[in-house]
Amino acid sequence: MSYRAPLADIASALKHAATLTPAIEQGLFGELGIEDIDAIVAEAGRFAAEVIAPLNRIGDTFGTRFADGNVTTAPGWKEAYRAWRLAGWNAVTAQSEWGGQGLPQIVNAACTEMWHAASVAFANGPMLTMAAIDALNAHGSTALKHAYLKKLVSGEWMGTMQLTEPQAGSDVGALRTRAERAGDGSYRIKGQKIFITFGEHDFTDNIIHFVLARLPDAPPGTRGISLFLVPKFLLQPDGSLGARNDVRAHSVEHKLGIHGSPTCTMIFGDAGGATGFLIGEENAGMSCMFTMMNRARLAVGLQGVGIAECATQKALSYARERRQGRAAVTDPQSAPIIAHPDVRRMLLTMRALTQAARAICYATALAIDRSERESDEAKRRAADAQASLLTPVAKAFSTDIANDVASLGIQVHGGMGYIEETGAAQLFRDARIAAIYEGTNGIQAIDLVTRKLPLGDGAVVMSHLDDMRAVVSALDADNDPGFGWAAVRLGDAVDSLARTTAWMIGQLGKQPEAALAGATPYLRLFGLASGGCLLAKQALSMKRLGEDAAAALATARFFAEHVAVTARSLERAVVEGAAGVVDADAALTVA
Ligand SMILES: Cc1cc2nc3c(=O)[nH]c(=O)nc-3n(C[C@H](O)[C@H](O)[C@H](O)COP(=O)(O)OP(=O)(O)OC[C@H]3O[C@@H](n4cnc5c(N)ncnc54)[C@H](O)[C@@H]3O)c2cc1C
Repeated sequence: MSYRAPLADIASALKHAATLTPAIEQGLFGELGIEDIDAIVAEAGRFAAEVIAPLNRIGDTFGTRFADGNVTTAPGWKEAYRAWRLAGWNAVTAQSEWGGQGLPQIVNAACTEMWHAASVAFANGPMLTMAAIDALNAHGSTALKHAYLKKLVSGEWMGTMQLTEPQAGSDVGALRTRAERAGDGSYRIKGQKIFITFGEHDFTDNIIHFVLARLPDAPPGTRGISLFLVPKFLLQPDGSLGARNDVRAHSVEHKLGIHGSPTCTMIFGDAGGATGFLIGEENAGMSCMFTMMNRARLAVGLQGVGIAECATQKALSYARERRQGRAAVTDPQSAPIIAHPDVRRMLLTMRALTQAARAICYATALAIDRSERESDEAKRRAADAQASLLTPVAKAFSTDIANDVASLGIQVHGGMGYIEETGAAQLFRDARIAAIYEGTNGIQAIDLVTRKLPLGDGAVVMSHLDDMRAVVSALDADNDPGFGWAAVRLGDAVDSLARTTAWMIGQLGKQPEAALAGATPYLRLFGLASGGCLLAKQALSMKRLGEDAAAALATARFFAEHVAVTARSLERAVVEGAAGVVDADAALTVA
């Protein structure tokens, strides 16, 4: 079964969980109406399902071919990319000044989910181009913007994001790539980067690398890193392609998944140094790169949602067809496996986790929109803080559940799930990287605990908790028996999160190692409580507006009764168990 864009689910999550409708009514997006957004999302869904999804398997089996420094992508991929960019999908959120459509981030979030559901390996290159556009637009000089932005926005050229080196992965501050002032305003870049997504490819005739490097007199660590734009081909004064720059791909990795996406080792400066142009100020590269990374982190979260959606669709379809065992001992014939309660439990888990992650990602995107578009400065700042709080959760929770859901997808298929033909195995392999790149999920959890909880002296997370309590109260007041124990269980989950948050903030000043030891279960708890409340909010809003809320209600209920109930265990793991992690040296020795 191939991917179908889940337009109804996406529309409900946009309007009711992420509260797009009130934002539109408030005039946040000018003339743009909900029908316009529905039409854009439907067209993106058609493109994803009809053009990209059919290429996913060939990308997996063909991989990429590397010869003489050149990369050949799978048959049909180059043409599909060209059709995708010509249809304007690379330019959805970019500024109209550079040829963009200036549409909301939340619209692009829905599109991004679908590109990744259709093929992560195809979509992760364009995802980085969009993030690069944001960084260049926010921090680049006028001259650099004029030289590069239009072609990046149109997708005629693609961008890359280059941080990682052999000794500098999570610890970006350890990077050694050097930048020397050339005396003419440009810089010469020398060094090696590894694991660079779409570092070389045949989609576009120029590739614009966004590279972190260190000046000779730079302070150590992340305070001494600068960001450079390094084009594969330098530009002539009229903007046309000139000489080849001193940067090349040395090799392409063989990987567990996303085979169609070229992951390259890049060499800068074989012949004296690649010409690079500074973005922002010298030694201020990390803050410029954070513009790029924050966008990419949300996009990787959406990658998780896309994979989880695709795995759920596949499993549902298989479970309706595969007959095995009898639903009741008296039945004369075997039943489709969807009739078995344990299979239903797996399918409901997949669906509920996917929808919770989608709601969190879309809510994060709307917070970014508000941070850019609210007329009031204080509201913009509050929304920016909310987006900062939610971004690591959107990234890590969504990609963790993508791994869980893809694994369940295989389980629903039984032995066939382990066989490549069904595609369930590819989803499992492709999902794995999303929890690693763009900052591992462990690093996201540390970011949430050490940088995001202290925002506004804790006021930002408190406001998020208040929003969740309001949903629980509304659920309680609604008193619909269809919600089962949801109000009680979600109330428990939010209470667990509130207590654990207070503990975390307290530990940061006293025993930071304990806070770090509890960071990952804390992020999961945060995602479960937030996702559960957003699903309940979605179902309540649909009911209130007289829409058919049966599926949303059943999903919210299942999530609260089966998934969010682990909140209390996570609280215990953090509050009672973190010290045991810090003191467990004896258990970590190799016998
Ligand atoms: C397919 C693929 C594509 C990629 N694309 C890009 C790209 O386009 N651009 C780019 O720059 N990079 C890219 N990367 C690199 C990726 O971002 C890194 O692999 C990732 O950031 C982790 O770094 P590392 O591999 O060095 O692992 P390490 O940093 O060595 O981490 C190993 C483990 O230790 C943990 N750890 C490390 N430090 C800490 C700490 N301080 N506290 C707690 N835990 C810690 C990590 O969470 C992880 O579990 C890609 C990688 C892959 C595999």
